[in-house]
Amino acid sequence: MAEFCSQCTPLDTVDYNLFNIALNLDRGHSRSFVCEGCDNRAVYKDEEGRLWIAHENGKGDLDWKPVTIDEL
Ligand SMILES: [Zn+2]
Repeated sequence: MAEFCSQCTPLDTVDYNLFNIALNLDRGHSRSFVCEGCDNRAVYKDEEGRLWIAHENGKGDLDWKPVTIDEL
């Protein structure tokens, strides 16, 4: 069954609520997942508390982008 994240799917049907995942992440840790809606692959919180999201770029690699908690 396909699974979707909160960046591409309404919250009432979401499998991965990225806001909640980010809130519960410790600094320096990441949480991997597979969203079949938007190809997001992971959320990472760095040692300074900044958030990053990994997006599969179609060539088997991940592009990491900074995000704010409001965007998740
Ligand atoms: Zn998604």
